[in-house]
Amino acid sequence: MANLTVLQPDAPVLSTLNRDGTRRWLKPRVSQGVFLTARRAVAYVLILVFTLVPFLKISGRPVLLLDVVRREFTFFGVTFLPTDTILLALLMLAIFVGVFLVTALLGRAWCGWACPQTVYLEFVYRPIERLVEGTLGRGGRRAAAATAPRAILKALLYFVVSFYLANTFLAYFVPVEELLEWVRRSPIEHPGSFGLVLVTTGAMLFNFAYFREQTCVLACPYGRFQSVLLDPSSLIISYDAARGEPRAKGRRPKRDVRSDEQGRSAAPRAGLGDCVDCGLCVITCPTGIDIRDGLQMECVACAQCIDACDDVMRRVGLPTGLIRYTSQGALAGKPARVLRPRVLLYSAILAVLVTAMMLAARGAAQPEIKILRGPGLPYARMPDGMIANNLRLRIQNRTDQTLRFSVDAVDAPAGTQLDFDVERLEVAAGRAREEPLLIRIPPTALHHGKCDVQLRVSAGERYSRTISYRLLGPEHP
Ligand code: SF4
Ligand code: SF4
Repeated sequence: MANLTVLQPDAPVLSTLNRDGTRRWLKPRVSQGVFLTARRAVAYVLILVFTLVPFLKISGRPVLLLDVVRREFTFFGVTFLPTDTILLALLMLAIFVGVFLVTALLGRAWCGWACPQTVYLEFVYRPIERLVEGTLGRGGRRAAAATAPRAILKALLYFVVSFYLANTFLAYFVPVEELLEWVRRSPIEHPGSFGLVLVTTGAMLFNFAYFREQTCVLACPYGRFQSVLLDPSSLIISYDAARGEPRAKGRRPKRDVRSDEQGRSAAPRAGLGDCVDCGLCVITCPTGIDIRDGLQMECVACAQCIDACDDVMRRVGLPTGLIRYTSQGALAGKPARVLRPRVLLYSAILAVLVTAMMLAARGAAQPEIKILRGPGLPYARMPDGMIANNLRLRIQNRTDQTLRFSVDAVDAPAGTQLDFDVERLEVAAGRAREEPLLIRIPPTALHHGKCDVQLRVSAGERYSRTISYRLLGPEHP
């Protein structure tokens, strides 16, 4: 057998890979500090919000529901259909521009503080792991011996959390009433939906138990756009190299150190910077990078390196903030600028988009009516000689109240008869209904096999719309 040579790169290609290409499992050390405390509080509030949003209603309709099966998308109680092309396009554009604006101002604050990936991984899954394995993470307290009962307990807890998460996630795509029905009934009665819950649970387990930080580093497109979305004034987390370098291990300044006007410590470390090269900012990083190497795509702005370094600085008697929230401009000694052309432009575009959306949404809150041709032959001759067109009336009630609709002919030949079930034209708020509508006209009303009529569909004072429709019949009646 030929000898195989494994070529290894000079430097790590990816923070989650070893040089030989195997997975580098990261178990970041937890660094306590003000940012971790604040992020934990935000995370718990967000977990509550993520869980409750599917249950919240405005006038009986969901605050947020992306019902892909019915092709209905509800935002703040207003339901949009795929036919609302302009509205959906405006919404997508507004989301993109909003992301651009937030990133230009706050950098990747979303990633570090609010993204469900970070929130659940750092504040649910990793704490479970540390609890079961008895460790504080890499470089922290030594883990207890890996035993089968511990592994089973961890897997069980992961499964329970993932199952709950899968149901929460699905509640954004399936109405909660339907989802609760799935949960109540035996899986045998609804194997399809139960299978969907299991597949989603499996996806959660794969993401949070196995793939983990690679979702941010490899799969999420947001981090990749970072370089074009940030500008020198955007908020980033950065190491102050001018203050920290040259770094030196284990040097300790005296306790009575004071900082100069630029924040640079007047430490008695002649010729040395403030970084004591302890490496804590690296072993605490959930994506496995070294912030001292500069701004990197893998940085999710979690601020764990700030907490770690501030603690070190306090211990060695140096000013905190060697790693801090700052901007590239501020590090280069330039004044901070919040209102800059990019921010103003994004804000103006966002304001226009939101205004256009609000105007378009007002129209979207009206019932949507469609008259469709029924199945089978386009027309039939009745025993009394009349020509009948079998149609279907489709009503999408997009208002927030139940409406009873009626149909009448406002411009039609004398003798036109409409046949529909009045009782069945009551449509609940946010629901759609399709009912048969039979129209009969005298054969003499036809001209070359066609007869144009005007039909009015109304719901009392609340709504009225007149629709033109072409009825069909024999060419020579
Ligand atoms: S470099 Fe710092 S802020 Fe960025 S991901 Fe690592 S620990 Fe978090
Ligand atoms: S935690 Fe601070 S002092 Fe320690 S290596 Fe990182 S930057 Fe240097």
